[in-house]
Amino acid sequence: MKRKIILLSYLILSILFSSYYQNMYAQNQESNTTLELDLNTTNATSRNSTDDLQSVVNSDKLKVVSSFYPIDEFVRKIGGDSIESSLLIPATIEPHDFEPTINQIQTVDSADVLVYNGLGIENWIAKINTAHKIDASNGLNVSYVDKRNMTIDPHVWLDPLLAKKEVENIRDGLIMIDTNNRDTYFNNAKNFLNELENLDKTIRTGLESCKKKDFISFHNSFSYFAKQYGLNQHSISDTGPEAEITSTRLAEIINIAKSLDLHVIYSEELIDPRYASIVAQEIPDSKVLVLSPIEGLTKNEQDARTGYITKMYENLSNLMVGLECNQ
Ligand SMILES: [Zn+2]
Repeated sequence: MKRKIILLSYLILSILFSSYYQNMYAQNQESNTTLELDLNTTNATSRNSTDDLQSVVNSDKLKVVSSFYPIDEFVRKIGGDSIESSLLIPATIEPHDFEPTINQIQTVDSADVLVYNGLGIENWIAKINTAHKIDASNGLNVSYVDKRNMTIDPHVWLDPLLAKKEVENIRDGLIMIDTNNRDTYFNNAKNFLNELENLDKTIRTGLESCKKKDFISFHNSFSYFAKQYGLNQHSISDTGPEAEITSTRLAEIINIAKSLDLHVIYSEELIDPRYASIVAQEIPDSKVLVLSPIEGLTKNEQDARTGYITKMYENLSNLMVGLECNQ
């Protein structure tokens, strides 16, 4: 009898334990699935971004929304404490092919100003109806990615001298909208323009002694930079960071690397480095380094408050390895 009771208790406990663990497992599975969905759908990012935007809309200061990361940094440098700024495209998402949700559009509409890069990278811009819009690339001398269909290369922010022009455009736009803070915007911009000028000088000095002029970026984002500093860009993807890359293209780029004797293949921080690694594997003594198009920031970079200038110096340093410059 005693034995039966012990056996029965054991059985009941086993059933209880097993159902408890099954529940735990199911919950874990559920939260894993949710996490995956959060990472893979724009809903999650739009929700975060909308929260962020909402706090801007509730402030008394000039409410400025920027389209994507480098523009946001330029705006913050100029506006300082005099504005409430916010990002439409979350910094961890690259801006090509982004589509704002109806919620995001409505929230941006209720801000005072939308600042954007222009040149077609924000192809949703016509859907936004803020009181004011500042086109940061207005009046810039642009070049084309594809002359046949007149596709303009939008990556002007990677050339520090063109970035200066964008900063001036943003400064002038903010002054026109919010004249009371004219001096603040002017002086803040002046400081940042000096930083950009120093960056340009450092790049020129850094690239003086290089043995090579060709480099392989991941996507074709460095054309303005290359033109400014007399370099030749080749890129694994000619149609944006998320585009599918064919094996024919990979074979072509491997041939380019071999014929130009290049040993560094560049990848980006916000994309899968696999393609760059595939190319690098085919080339002797090669390695993959990051050459950032500065279209966003990783979570770690955001936490460390890494900015545009720091990232440009990192780019220079990595580029100097690939171009075999005196370090
Ligand atoms: Zn790009």
